[in-house]
Amino acid sequence: MPNYNVGILGATGAVGQKFIRLLQNHPWFTIKALGASGRSAGKKYQEAANWVEDVAMPESVSGLIVRNCKSEEFHDVDFVFSGLDSSVATEIEADFAGTGIPVISNAKNYRTDPTVPLLVPEVNPDHIALIEKQKFSDDGKGWIVTNPNCVAIPLAMSLKPLHDRFGIDSVVLTSLQAISGAGYPGVPSLDILGNVIPLIGGEEPKIEAEPLKLLGELKDGVIEHADFPVQATATRVPVINGHLLSVTVKFKDAPSDFWEVKKAFQEWKSPIAGLDLPSAPEYPLHVHEDERYPQPRLHADSAKGMQTAIGRVRPANVMDAAYIAMAHNTVRGAAGGAILNAELLVKKEYISS
Ligand code: NAP
Repeated sequence: MPNYNVGILGATGAVGQKFIRLLQNHPWFTIKALGASGRSAGKKYQEAANWVEDVAMPESVSGLIVRNCKSEEFHDVDFVFSGLDSSVATEIEADFAGTGIPVISNAKNYRTDPTVPLLVPEVNPDHIALIEKQKFSDDGKGWIVTNPNCVAIPLAMSLKPLHDRFGIDSVVLTSLQAISGAGYPGVPSLDILGNVIPLIGGEEPKIEAEPLKLLGELKDGVIEHADFPVQATATRVPVINGHLLSVTVKFKDAPSDFWEVKKAFQEWKSPIAGLDLPSAPEYPLHVHEDERYPQPRLHADSAKGMQTAIGRVRPANVMDAAYIAMAHNTVRGAAGGAILNAELLVKKEYISS
């Protein structure tokens, strides 16, 4: 059984707290160091963090002194998870990678870098080979791997079986996104209670671009992006956890029998099944038969928050097929997804202690 000491950058934030919660009792990873801004550094974690998880703060971290996010303060870790605010992630993550500390990040800053894998293990595990192309550190020991936007993850997971079978021609979707996706304190209560906000600044370009890299093919060390248009409308709704997507798809090669579409979801096999990764759900996609499902409050926590739920698979009057996809935004869409990425990187021997 491997065991690795890990650090968490942005440990006081919403995603940082989810990392702490999910890493409690992790069989391979032990939290050794927590980092945040100068406002928090030097304080005990229990004084620096406004703990918003619905379980008690673990005793193993409450007394840890929060560090500055500088690589020289993290020599005792094998790699770091980053839940850093994007306004600071570019320099801090490059500093860590540059001094040989691998970074597994949630921030958007390096997602479009052609040498940085944008990784969902069930969708594009082979893309981790891009690490070999990175030049962050002279000896190649430091690198960055990112996980996608929290809507792009369930979108790509649901599109993957369809793209493999029928080829995707175009996608139109509307996302109904939970308030926990905006971090803490996030959206003002007077804006969101009893309301829907029809714009999330900066969100739609990420949802439209990231699935194309995820569904792209690695050829001669370069990702050839998938080539189809995605039109996204991102909205914020008064739900605590779980982003729900209403998706409509046109295929290049539509099946003559529509129920082939449902079968594509049901018969899809995860490429990481059998690797025994501790955070991998047995069924990454679950197709609900009951037309009332999936619902964020009922299903966001299914399979420990790591599953993408599919429902209402039906023929579309415009384009070919319509369905609902839903996933827990801070687990599958952030910290849990990053932990699964780390597990795959351990299994593939990119991380060593
Ligand atoms: P958040 O609650 O606002 O937390 C931001 C974290 O960054 C805090 O720990 C903060 O530390 C730290 N930070 C801010 N300025 C810093 C500085 N100058 N130096 C070092 N640390 C600094 O945000 P979040 O929702 O957890 O999101 C974190 C990242 O994950 C973002 O890049 C976000 O886009 C991404 N993400 C979030 C979600 C989600 O569902 N929430 C999903 C996917 C990806 P202090 O407490 O000391 O200020």
